[in-house]
Amino acid sequence: METNYTQCLIIGSGPAGYTAAIYASRAALNPVLYEGLQPGGQLTTTTVIENFPGYPEGVDANQLMGDMRAQAVNLGAEVRSGYVTAVDLSQRPFRVTVDETDTILAETLIIATGATAKYLGLPSEDKYRGMGVSACATCDGFFYRGKDVAVVGGGDTACEEASYLAHLCRKVYMIVRRNVLRASKAMQERVLQTENIEILWECQTQEVLGDANGVNGVRLVRKSGEVFEKPIDGFFLAIGHHPQSDLFKEWIDTDENGYILTDGKSSRTNVEGVFAAGDVQDPQYRQAIAAAGSGCRAALDAERFILSKK
Ligand code: NDP
Repeated sequence: METNYTQCLIIGSGPAGYTAAIYASRAALNPVLYEGLQPGGQLTTTTVIENFPGYPEGVDANQLMGDMRAQAVNLGAEVRSGYVTAVDLSQRPFRVTVDETDTILAETLIIATGATAKYLGLPSEDKYRGMGVSACATCDGFFYRGKDVAVVGGGDTACEEASYLAHLCRKVYMIVRRNVLRASKAMQERVLQTENIEILWECQTQEVLGDANGVNGVRLVRKSGEVFEKPIDGFFLAIGHHPQSDLFKEWIDTDENGYILTDGKSSRTNVEGVFAAGDVQDPQYRQAIAAAGSGCRAALDAERFILSKK
């Protein structure tokens, strides 16, 4: 039977959440973890992870997340499906509402809700979302085999998505607003050496074009003022992410971009007993291994907090 009380509630099922669950289980905190809308987190929208230590040949992202989940469960964590819809952090135990109906009380809370993709904010982008507009090449690239597509952005994500799409698509345009790529040198090299990737430098998107069948082009404007169009079938966003902290803002301090603020090297937030781990508090590193490390810290902080109250 599901309990409605836990010493440690973890919200989020990415590397931060599962690692926190592994450590909290071993600390005998009997953690409960809610998986949210995307079990496994952002990583499940990618394919092979080559930079997670311990996998010399790389590892399938879904496999990695499945293994982390299994490890947490084997150690005693209770992993539940469910989406947290409200929190009351005014007193301990904290009161957390799941799927708008169920309530669970928690002595400590670890927020590991991650981040979601940003969009440009164009009405046409909204109109064709799911009809050619996507923020995840590895999820949707399959549908554009042999076609022409565009990727917006010049960071590591954009380069990675463009490289991935280049294997599937005939042509990949990268729409880059400056005359440089923000991405790491290695990713830049990969993109520049891929024949069917063309970078459209100093270009911004004016409009995503389409009809009843979905996207069929994009209208761009160069820094020089020149407006031109490219026929494409898929339009992929890779311009960064929003931290998923809205639910907690009434209680928890964030920076101007919504990233949860933590105390020094710890995972402590401004509310005693509430800790944050992973991308929701990390605008800088945003890597699976970094998130896993911060999940570990959050569980250790939660354990110490519980001990200090005994
Ligand atoms: P970044 O913030 O690094 O890059 C965002 C890109 O989108 C930039 O080129 C930016 O342009 C552009 N951009 C932002 N807003 C707009 C807009 N409104 N219109 C047009 N272009 C826009 O985000 P990423 O998601 O690429 O990366 C985030 C972090 O994750 C980074 O630290 C990155 O290194 C890391 N990462 C690492 C990977 C790996 O190691 N395997 C893979 C993916 C990400 P501008 O440069 O002009 O600001």
